[in-house]
Amino acid sequence: MGKKVLINLNSDNIFSCENYLDIASNIGAEIFTIGFSVEKRPIIALKKGTGKIKVLFVSRIHGNEPATTQAMLEFFNNYNSKDITIFGILLANPDGASLFEQLWLQNREPHWKNSFNNARLNAAGVDLNRDWFDLSQEETRAIRRFIFSIRPDFVIDHHEFYWSDKGYPPKQPIEDEDGFMATMTDAPFYGVHQFVKEISKKAMYTLIEKLENDFQWKIKVRHFAGKSDNNIEIPTVLGIYLALRGIPKLLVETWGVGCSTLLLEQRIKFHYLSMKYITNWIRSEESSFLNKPESLQLLRYNLKDADSRKIDLFLRKLGLHQIKFKKEKDSVIVNIPTTEVGFIDTIHNSIFERKRM
Ligand SMILES: [Zn+2]
Repeated sequence: MGKKVLINLNSDNIFSCENYLDIASNIGAEIFTIGFSVEKRPIIALKKGTGKIKVLFVSRIHGNEPATTQAMLEFFNNYNSKDITIFGILLANPDGASLFEQLWLQNREPHWKNSFNNARLNAAGVDLNRDWFDLSQEETRAIRRFIFSIRPDFVIDHHEFYWSDKGYPPKQPIEDEDGFMATMTDAPFYGVHQFVKEISKKAMYTLIEKLENDFQWKIKVRHFAGKSDNNIEIPTVLGIYLALRGIPKLLVETWGVGCSTLLLEQRIKFHYLSMKYITNWIRSEESSFLNKPESLQLLRYNLKDADSRKIDLFLRKLGLHQIKFKKEKDSVIVNIPTTEVGFIDTIHNSIFERKRM
């Protein structure tokens, strides 16, 4: 992984949040505190580079998916280019990560029962990756604010998935057609702008080709939602939210929850290389990113005869997501980039249970 690995994988402090923050302040990155968790731990963002195109990596929305944080530290440590600006949210759920650290120190045995599910959640017991539409938590509000202050051109959301009770290690593809150790998800969701869909898909297949070659792992493409039919998807997860807000994105996931330190080096490397390869790919695709559609579209939602409570809810949701609107007698008017039309339609359609007329 280039320079010396920052955290010794045999040490007791491999999952130490204090250690992560110490390291983060010594790798030549700018550091921002972008908000605080429920238990008032700082949410830290790293930055390197000065280029016009910006990539954001998000680690640890779920506290019990630890490989993603170390991968980010290693990547930022080794990144010395300036042409692409890289941002990273090191611990999106610092309370969950801290709980994970404590639980792991008490029980290090890799087992599917030791998935420390409470550490997936924030300190209020909320799964932050189901909160992007409601923004009910400190963490999601702070991260959303940060994302729209920097407006990244691409985001990777890094996760690990659960060791199932079907045994470990997962079978290799040669033994089992369904065996896999990593997954990726692009943005096929209904209402997502074509530009976002295409960039996300191209990025995904580029990464899959390189990583399958490096790891000899079968990478499963999986879509949790969005069968490209007419069903709207409520963007409770970050990936769907970003896609509907006009930001190309990928979900990158390795086997890992409940695995303790099993395969940890490879898990870290997988996330690390995802960060590295996507940055290289974006550099080679610069013109596509610079040609992002910027035009605005004027949307008029006819609310004549609509329930006034639903109208209030619609306006509150727009306000919550900082969408400017104009209320007229029988309608609401929104002027929005064409890449985000699907998001406003989603809010409208989910509340009024009908499409924009
Ligand atoms: Zn996760």
